[in-house]
Amino acid sequence: MGFLKKLFGGGEPEKYVDKQGLYFFVECDDCGARVKVRADKQHDLQNTGDGYEWHKTIVDNRCFRRIQTVVQLDGSYQMVSHEITGGRYMTEAEYLAAEAAAEQAKASDAADDGDETETGDSG
Ligand SMILES: [Zn+2]
Repeated sequence: MGFLKKLFGGGEPEKYVDKQGLYFFVECDDCGARVKVRADKQHDLQNTGDGYEWHKTIVDNRCFRRIQTVVQLDGSYQMVSHEITGGRYMTEAEYLAAEAAAEQAKASDAADDGDETETGDSG
């Protein structure tokens, strides 16, 4: 009967590891917002034979501009090349450093430096 128990789970606590997820870090060209994007290896990637391709429209939560991207990955999910419109890729280290810097800036930004002047519409 041991195998049945195995089949239906022996009640071992499973640590959640996101084996299915790939993470990408993108900075919006327009407003500088940083976005962490998860791609699901099974559902979001297209198999190209010798690798994978990921198509995504990323929307940041500051200016809500659409960032279009296509990423080519090799068979072990390493980024080979990418195209991105409206933003740029950053490494996880860059992302974390920028987030930390932003937190510090927020903390030390006690003084209000006023509004930026905006002129006209961008086309
Ligand atoms: Zn933006």
